Amino acid sequence: MIGLKGLFKELGNRIVWLLCPMHCPYCDRLIGYHDTECGQCAQTLSGNAFERELPGGGSCRAPFEYKGGVREALHRFKFGGDLNAAKSFSKHLADVMKKHTSGFDAVTNVPLSIRSLKKRGYDQTEIIARRLSVLLDKPFTPALVKIKQNKVQHSLRASERERNPAGCYAPVDKDAIRGKRLLLIDDIATTGFTMAECRSVLLEAGAASVECAVVAFAVLEAPAKT
Ligand SMILES: [Zn+2]
Repeated sequence: MIGLKGLFKELGNRIVWLLCPMHCPYCDRLIGYHDTECGQCAQTLSGNAFERELPGGGSCRAPFEYKGGVREALHRFKFGGDLNAAKSFSKHLADVMKKHTSGFDAVTNVPLSIRSLKKRGYDQTEIIARRLSVLLDKPFTPALVKIKQNKVQHSLRASERERNPAGCYAPVDKDAIRGKRLLLIDDIATTGFTMAECRSVLLEAGAASVECAVVAFAVLEAPAKT
């Protein structure tokens, strides 16, 4: 039964919604205060689970492909400060991991460099990973730090992408990582080299296992027909 405190909180939520209505992150339809997306997008987007092999071993899972409304929502989330979509991203990631995980002790993220963090003002993957950790009832652990600024992966030729993330990430605290089974979160994976590098750094630092998941996989272009 909802108490007086809960009643005032709910009332406050509804007033906030009236003053600042919520929109579906994927199609911009008006949604209720407690909704993460509209019914139509929920129907289209729910239940999908993609998996790709990572370079060097292991695999990565995702609830979405980076296209259509998902692409626009992720772009606004990452570059436009529209953080509301994190609720939906983390919910769909949680659905995938609940079905497919082999077990982990903590959730962590592929971090931004300090320079990028200062410029953007927030670390988008940390926001998703923290929400996900609540949904999955596991602690969030900041396990990695980005020590070197590299070029943005999608700006490079395929042949340059493998080397680009090398040496860019380091463990925050090996004692906190040792023996832990980690779930590593990023927003988008294209070739998987960044995720593979971070996974490798965590395993070298003593993590017992590292499962990987992203919000969306970039849609791979079919090789040109000759
Ligand atoms: Zn929608």
